[in-house]
Amino acid sequence: MSDTYDRLNALCFGGRLRPVVIRLEPWILSIDTPGLRLAGAWDSDGWSIAIDRALLDHPRLLVGALLHEMVHQACHQAAGVGGHGPFFVAAAALAGGPLDIPGPTPATASTWPYPIPRQLLKEI
Ligand SMILES: [Zn+2]
Repeated sequence: MSDTYDRLNALCFGGRLRPVVIRLEPWILSIDTPGLRLAGAWDSDGWSIAIDRALLDHPRLLVGALLHEMVHQACHQAAGVGGHGPFFVAAAALAGGPLDIPGPTPATASTWPYPIPRQLLKEI
């Protein structure tokens, strides 16, 4: 996982992201917040990224979830900005460019770049 992080950092963020702790957790896909379901989580206090370990079986979704959280990290690192507002949308568009991943719109930012298929979501 840290290899993937390092590659994405070099390719999509110019290597500017500071090292983080990356954890695989069993609970993240269970989180239900209004309007979205999460596959990863950025923790600016702990400077860490958590990814649901169920994504290990879904490499594309795993990379997508990691990239999403890395954009959160980039927003925090550059400007202390959280959430999925204009700053996130702009940063995601820049980060996705080298991978030919289209940037999000304000409406799709919270599930960018790949929405999690319903069958992966865990019952609460
Ligand atoms: Zn997010």
